[in-house]
Amino acid sequence: MSVNELAYANLQKTVPASVKIVAVSKLKPVSDVIALYNIGQRDFGENYVQELVDKQAQLPTDIRWHFIGHLQSNKVKYIAPFVHLIHGVDSIKLLKEINKQAVKLNRVINCLLQVHIASEETKFGFDEAALKELGDFASFTHVKILGLMGMASFSNDMSLVRKEFAGLKGLFDQMNQTLDTDNQLTTLSMGMSNDYLIAIEEGCTMIRIGSLIFGARN
Ligand SMILES: *Cc1c(COP(=O)(O)O)cnc(C)c1O
Repeated sequence: MSVNELAYANLQKTVPASVKIVAVSKLKPVSDVIALYNIGQRDFGENYVQELVDKQAQLPTDIRWHFIGHLQSNKVKYIAPFVHLIHGVDSIKLLKEINKQAVKLNRVINCLLQVHIASEETKFGFDEAALKELGDFASFTHVKILGLMGMASFSNDMSLVRKEFAGLKGLFDQMNQTLDTDNQLTTLSMGMSNDYLIAIEEGCTMIRIGSLIFGARN
């Protein structure tokens, strides 16, 4: 499989400029990343720490790497030096570890809090009630919470998917009403190959697109 340049061009045409496209290259070869890089893409998403570390070492340094998978605390240190945005922060324990590694490196690491919006049990993330109780993140001096991330149910029921996305957008707006101007959430990461159009309609600012650009994964 290689890059579907036509699908990518269509995506660029249809997605509003206010929505950032993260190209999800997990399980795809470095050559595919280069092919897309060469036609202008700079934001790439990966799910597995070892794979991300291997690719980052081989690829241009101006790529912005997004970690979109489930991150274990003991692996934060491997990606902390270079990661641009960690989408899947789903516990305070993980946030603490990210902050600790960022302090060591004297950098600030951008994070999104993952919210559990799907009806399925298996998806990681904070639930809404827990998130509202978190309060402020002032003690995490080297973590910048840019926003929220969510994954809708894996379902053909698009009205369910839409409801879940709308719920996340509602939470995002509610949180912004309580946060002061310096800490406003700016990034809402939701939508994948099969539901990104709905995510855009429901107000996301970032979509994570894999198979549509790179073809099906094995
Ligand atoms: C794999 C993955 C994607 C991309 O999925 P596609 O359906 O291939 O677009 C997006 N987000 C997360 C969290 C993923 O794990």
